[in-house]
Amino acid sequence: MSEQTSSKMGRLFHQSEMFQVESFDGRRRVKADRSVSRATITEPAREIPVHAECDVLVLGGGPAGTAAAVAAGRLGAKVMLMERHNHLGGLATGGLVLWIDRMTDWTGQLVIRGFAEEFLGRLPPGSVAGPPREAWGSRDAATAAWWQLRTAAYHGTVTWSPTCDPEQMKYVAQEMVLQAGAELLFHCWGAMPVMEGNAVRGVVFESKAGRRAVLAKVVVDATGDGDIFARAGARWHGDINADDIHHCSNTAFMFAGCDMPAFLRWRGEKPEELASFIQAGKAKYGLFERAFVSWRDDVALFMGPRMVGFNALDPDDQSEVEIRSHRLMMQHLEHYKAAAPGFAGAYPILSAPQLGVRHTRRLAGMGAVLRESWDGRVMPDEIAVTPSPGPKFPNISVPYGALVPEALDGLLAPGRHVSCDPTSHSFMREIPQCWLTGHAAGVAAALGVQAGVEPRAVDVRAVQQALVRQGAYLSPEVLAVAAE
Ligand SMILES: Cc1cc2nc3c(=O)[nH]c(=O)nc-3n(C[C@H](O)[C@H](O)[C@H](O)COP(=O)(O)OP(=O)(O)OC[C@H]3O[C@@H](n4cnc5c(N)ncnc54)[C@H](O)[C@@H]3O)c2cc1C
Repeated sequence: MSEQTSSKMGRLFHQSEMFQVESFDGRRRVKADRSVSRATITEPAREIPVHAECDVLVLGGGPAGTAAAVAAGRLGAKVMLMERHNHLGGLATGGLVLWIDRMTDWTGQLVIRGFAEEFLGRLPPGSVAGPPREAWGSRDAATAAWWQLRTAAYHGTVTWSPTCDPEQMKYVAQEMVLQAGAELLFHCWGAMPVMEGNAVRGVVFESKAGRRAVLAKVVVDATGDGDIFARAGARWHGDINADDIHHCSNTAFMFAGCDMPAFLRWRGEKPEELASFIQAGKAKYGLFERAFVSWRDDVALFMGPRMVGFNALDPDDQSEVEIRSHRLMMQHLEHYKAAAPGFAGAYPILSAPQLGVRHTRRLAGMGAVLRESWDGRVMPDEIAVTPSPGPKFPNISVPYGALVPEALDGLLAPGRHVSCDPTSHSFMREIPQCWLTGHAAGVAAALGVQAGVEPRAVDVRAVQQALVRQGAYLSPEVLAVAAE
């Protein structure tokens, strides 16, 4: 979790200790000489081959889409998972966001369970770094200080927020999807919804085989950017918290050949030297970032520097962020190698294949996770419980309605574009929460298909019961009702 939580004017924001961004005012574009054309062309109507038909089409193989495909497949649905890249995991793997946010609440209880718990449990030894179970929730000062340097303690509490090997995550996700009986379709970019009245009944996609379609009874839009619900006409929100980091974008990168224990020792023992090192980097390059630990002592992770003011739905802006991030990667390498203990032998091992986008669209849902519901209330249609962003708040109940569009049928929308307000987005967009909402969407999609009803009409109690059977954690009040 690079994003720490701080209190500001009574509100809580996830904020880095190094909240350092560059604001983009639209004038410094690399290709500043090309003005945006207003010309249009007419695309002729054409017949599109139907590539496949299924019960549940999951579009996007990130944390949300992977969890959805596994859950729906295990309930017997005929599932296809379509992904534009060559791997599963989304930003958690391809974006190098291998630092999984808190899965325990402030008492140390594991509340992010179900698919998430099983997935992490399947990663082989050596591919997950984090505190042992007996330390979760510990407020012992020395233990918390040790884990804070290793990204697993916040507000003086040790948390289960591990860092994981992205290749092992890709592999385990892929095998879980296949074992659940779902079909995987890589290298296909979902372009447009197939509509039947007000309902989405498939997706037209682009591929090396040309433009094709997959038809489905339910589509789970797990693109993170609401690509399909937006094009199907569902209402969405794009407002942000300017003080938060959820609207920043950047491409993450990793250096190998490092000695992170030596770096951490320096960081702990000579904070003033580290501060002037960072200051010198900023003076030289404008943006400069602290290295974070990964799952290995010889690999350093950089999940910034973050840039502000770019629209991650605009390919020109996306390209600009990529160009700047790649330059920053090499500038960081030069400065770290020259002056940071533990980095003399560092070399660039990978810049993320997926652009790091935290926020674009958020669904306008039948329900939502809202700031005013951080008061311990339990939503009657609860499908998940998330740890709160700070110890002064109780756990937060996530309603099924947050996955269901206000009016559009045939579609569910788990993941970072889930229905919530900008403040709640600070944690609802994190990987554990995307696993939670993805898991619930997969269950609801499969049960809806079985019952022959639209997602909005699915029996929520049946969803809750199926989630619990698949290992999910729900509030005791909800469990009691679901068990009746
Ligand atoms: C730099 C950065 C740092 C972060 N730090 C943390 C952190 O420390 N801890 C944490 O828990 N979270 C962190 N996050 C947030 C977290 O990584 C994401 O919000 C989370 O991965 C979102 O999951 P998702 O499944 O909703 O979407 P994504 O992970 O974005 O996955 C969406 C998938 O859908 C695919 N896709 C998209 N559109 C299409 C299409 N049209 N057709 C086909 N496929 C498509 C994409 O290729 C991708 O694989 C960070 C995010 C960023 C960018």
